[in-house]
Amino acid sequence: MFDLIEDNIHRFKKIVFVTGAGISQESGIPTFRGKDGLWRNHDAMRLATIDAFYDNPKLVWEWYNERRENIFQAHPNAGHKAIAELEKYAEVVVLTQNIDGLHQKSGSSRVLELHGSIVKIKCSVCDYKEEIFREISKLPPLCKCGNVLRPDVVWFGELLPQEVWKNAINFANNCDLMIIVGTSLVVSPVNTLPIYAKQNNATLVEINPEHTVMSENMDIIIRNTSAESIPKLVSLFKNKS
Ligand code: NAD
Repeated sequence: MFDLIEDNIHRFKKIVFVTGAGISQESGIPTFRGKDGLWRNHDAMRLATIDAFYDNPKLVWEWYNERRENIFQAHPNAGHKAIAELEKYAEVVVLTQNIDGLHQKSGSSRVLELHGSIVKIKCSVCDYKEEIFREISKLPPLCKCGNVLRPDVVWFGELLPQEVWKNAINFANNCDLMIIVGTSLVVSPVNTLPIYAKQNNATLVEINPEHTVMSENMDIIIRNTSAESIPKLVSLFKNKS
């Protein structure tokens, strides 16, 4: 699989990574799938919704407080670091569904956060927004306007920040290599990004230990973890430079 990338490496100048929860799994941050997707017997996919928040904001905040603590202690792994290093050899943009900030921590300079960020908090009613790095003690936290504050993340069923999404499509439309890492590709609209890339004749690479709903549409598949595979892939660019 790596030889197919190596043979075409001269064509790959504009590289887009589309990343999901799996790339941070080796940093100790659970994904939403399988046994990892349960928190106190609640399904993560159901908790990450506006309905769950309005039903029980305290419960959803307790979950986010634990996620915040876990994420604040996590470090970028070899996969994140290799993506940052690739900027020395090619034009690289990271389109991430992750809210953990680990790409930025590892030194990637162009990261579009499609689903927001766990450090950001916003009012569920007014325009108030802020970044909070400490633990939030009184749950649910309230805004000065009296309404409930919520994590500034995109929950299932919510719209993506439109300016960020427009830019993401633009990068996908113009890349010549798209590397899709650690995402099940079941979350829309992010799972349409490979289609935009294909319209530009880009090569699609999937890095994931498991089959995904779009595996059949990939040009190259690497069935391994991201911390194992991305450094190998980046070393091909390093050796050619
Ligand atoms: P997902 O949970 O649906 O899928 C995770 C994918 O990662 C799976 O296909 C799995 O096979 C793969 N995977 C697991 N371990 C891997 C590894 N070590 N290397 C490479 N791949 C690995 O994740 P998703 O597609 O990102 O969608 C779920 C939503 O969950 C997103 O909206 C995202 O915002 C949110 N989320 C984010 C984080 C985070 O910020 N770290 C964590 C959990 C969920």
